[in-house]
Amino acid sequence: MNLNYNCPICGKPGPSSPRYPRWICPECGQRATDENGRGLRFQNVSVSGGYEAYYRDTGEPYNSHICFVDGVKCWADEAYMGGIVISIRDE
Ligand SMILES: [Zn+2]
Repeated sequence: MNLNYNCPICGKPGPSSPRYPRWICPECGQRATDENGRGLRFQNVSVSGGYEAYYRDTGEPYNSHICFVDGVKCWADEAYMGGIVISIRDE
């Protein structure tokens, strides 16, 4: 595996991904919040995939893919190979 990519948030090296050209590393994904700074967590609906997001503090569902990491707007979604991938969101 080539570590020829750097996380756009923290600069940590990682594998590049043609499918997710602007993905952020899992450590940065841990810091994802909503637009008001409330912590979020993401998970697959089941072992076969899917996407769910929750607030870390209350466990309430978060019905959006938009999240923020260090003030940068990102987009969380089900990863093609399973798990969750978060990428920088361009708008
Ligand atoms: Zn990072």
